[in-house]
Amino acid sequence: MKTYTVTLIPGDGTGPELAQTAREVIDATGVKIAWEIAEAGSDVMEKYGTPLPETTIKSIRKNGVALKGPITTPIGTGFRSVNVAIRKELDLFACLRPCKTITGVKTRYSGIDLVVVRENTEDLYAGVEFKPDSPEARKIIELSQNKIRPGSAISIKPISREGSARIVRFAFEHAVKHNRRKVTAVTKANIMKFTDGLFFEAAREIAREYEGKIEYEERLIDNMCMQLVQKPELYDVIVLPNLYGDILSDLCAGLVGGLGVAPGANFGEGIAVFEAVHGSAPKYKGLNKVNPTALILSAQLMLEYLGETEAAERLGKAVRSVIAEGATVTYDLGGAAGTREMGRAIIQRLSSL
Ligand code: NAD
Repeated sequence: MKTYTVTLIPGDGTGPELAQTAREVIDATGVKIAWEIAEAGSDVMEKYGTPLPETTIKSIRKNGVALKGPITTPIGTGFRSVNVAIRKELDLFACLRPCKTITGVKTRYSGIDLVVVRENTEDLYAGVEFKPDSPEARKIIELSQNKIRPGSAISIKPISREGSARIVRFAFEHAVKHNRRKVTAVTKANIMKFTDGLFFEAAREIAREYEGKIEYEERLIDNMCMQLVQKPELYDVIVLPNLYGDILSDLCAGLVGGLGVAPGANFGEGIAVFEAVHGSAPKYKGLNKVNPTALILSAQLMLEYLGETEAAERLGKAVRSVIAEGATVTYDLGGAAGTREMGRAIIQRLSSL
């Protein structure tokens, strides 16, 4: 039997306890994985002088696949997001976030089956920002012919044709491979005519290649938020630039029961990092409280990516069965079990499947 070497980044906050549980659960599927532990996050800042040591990037690059716990990003000041840095450094341009109703999870909606495809490298996440009154900000204010108020801070929103085309192609390819019927591209192109306009333009071009196979449509982000809350069944695969994709994937996670059950994956060319949609939930750090499902379902996506389809299916079944039964689930699903206990229940279920 093949042994896969996979980089495991425990992360910080609740990350390490979630990663430990996810690791035990994956090992229990019988798939042989040699875990290569790589550090990142606020906890290693002191030791390495950076929250993202070069050895961690090297490890992911070498192995081509990683499972990652969440990592805290200070708000307003401090280091930039390690999560964004990993995606940019490895050109993990596509973020895939499936949102599917799980029986037993109490939500206002049923029968949800959506896939959010988010562009990961451009847009307001590019990290091109200028402080108020900096020479760069002043220059841009001048260029804007005083459309911008003096003393403003400025963030730049770059969107390229190539970047847009490759993410839309990824969405269509995902749709074809997974027998989906429609791709909806979402922006605010009525206001951001050049950047979001370019995204739509590139999307239309790619959509033409799939005519007759996969339907294509466009929506504006504000309308899309309302539509998803009122008529989520109208949608299937949704593709968006970075920031809209970030916000809409939390909305979609809410439709299926919250962040505790929302998995995700980041893909580049021949490289992939699997991580939950949720963050490090630092207030629950070390409390053995948060839900391991999102990271375990991200690991299920990883097993599929590795070609371990049968194990992936079995893992999904075990998770759904434990949740449906409802006896050993975490607080967010209405239970009283801890992270570890829920993980153990899934392992036990795996052994009986
Ligand atoms: P968060 O996702 O960490 O938590 C928000 C709330 O959602 C929590 O307080 C909790 O009530 C709930 N929640 C989250 N994960 C859960 C789980 N597994 N089980 C049950 N409930 C869960 O969002 P936040 O508080 O906005 O962010 C905290 C930190 O995480 C920030 O520094 C943020 O930048 C970072 N973050 C990291 C990632 C990542 O690593 N990819 C993603 C999002 C946010």
